[in-house]
Amino acid sequence: MTRLNLLDPLPLAQEMIRCPSVYPDDAGCLEVLAEALEPLGFDCQTILAQTAEGRDFPNLYAKLGSGGPHLCFLGHSDVVPPGDRDAWSADPFAAEVREGRLMGRGAADMKGGIAAFVSSVARILDRGDALPGSISVLIAGDEETGRGAGAQALVAEAQARGEAWDWCLVGEPSNPDHLGQALKIGRRGSLCGSLKVNGVQGHSAYPEKANNPVPKLLRLLNSLIAQPLDQGNERFQPSDLQITSVDVGNPVFNLIPARAEARFNVRFNSEHSPQGLQELLLKRLSDTGLAYELDMEVHGEAYLTQEGRLSRALRKAVEQVTGVTPELSTGGGFSDGRFFKDLCPVVEFGLISQSAHQVDERADLEDLEKLTQVYEQVLRELLSPAP
Ligand SMILES: [Zn+2]
Repeated sequence: MTRLNLLDPLPLAQEMIRCPSVYPDDAGCLEVLAEALEPLGFDCQTILAQTAEGRDFPNLYAKLGSGGPHLCFLGHSDVVPPGDRDAWSADPFAAEVREGRLMGRGAADMKGGIAAFVSSVARILDRGDALPGSISVLIAGDEETGRGAGAQALVAEAQARGEAWDWCLVGEPSNPDHLGQALKIGRRGSLCGSLKVNGVQGHSAYPEKANNPVPKLLRLLNSLIAQPLDQGNERFQPSDLQITSVDVGNPVFNLIPARAEARFNVRFNSEHSPQGLQELLLKRLSDTGLAYELDMEVHGEAYLTQEGRLSRALRKAVEQVTGVTPELSTGGGFSDGRFFKDLCPVVEFGLISQSAHQVDERADLEDLEKLTQVYEQVLRELLSPAP
């Protein structure tokens, strides 16, 4: 690969988008990134993690400098599949620029954000300015799966090396529709539940000989949603339980089915611990007096990062570069930041999420440039030499 001009985030973002890194295939994306980071002085190491099927996939651990303060930039190189390619107005992996926009899968989520961060470091080094302390760039290869195996392998590597971070900046697209809108200072947790009721199959004309599980399932589901889970709090919207599937699998009218199942997903705020939430749901179900089977799985608990140097530095830089005062948000789904929340303050700021996971995913070149400037200012503020 010819040496990219890293002072501009565009060429690196394009090279990464041209690697169709749909998990678990990295398609050379992390190699492109490591080849960009090494000339800047980063020491790059591939950290393998395993898929659910036991197959290896790569993640990148890159570090520049030594000693503190130590900022960790967290991102992911995997992208969701392009879906129907014919629905795209540009090839999703060609990384074309059209009318001032970089088009392609991963442009917003989040290869553009990674490229902006690399450029911010390149610009500081290019000026010959001192950059005391350390910068780690940790890139997971499986964020979109929600499993977090990559992020956990990176954290384990850091702990084996005895590394500690002062801050973790996550480059996920944190702004709903314009740059500067939101810093994410926390995330909700997610709980998935699968609820089953067993009955006895029978003819609908002879219900006394059967035991219909469907009305029981409906009553149980109603007990889950009849009352709000909480009222929300200063930083979080109310927790929300969505019933996402109700299944009987019965194609005919005159048969009472033997079992009925439903699935639900709860996005919960800091009013609940995973344990407390599960107890609340179990209580609501058992108060019906009905028999049921329930499996629950927690994917990340809610967390909130208190105001501190990273969030202040980000807010100041965002205001200066974009002229917009960002709100401190906790909305949306979870990110790999949840694996870092107990290790250091975690704040997320990146591009615009609007087109992420959609056809014609894109990033405005102007936003890429502004994001690079925001990251540069944050690095200068946090890692500047002591006066
Ligand atoms: Zn993402």
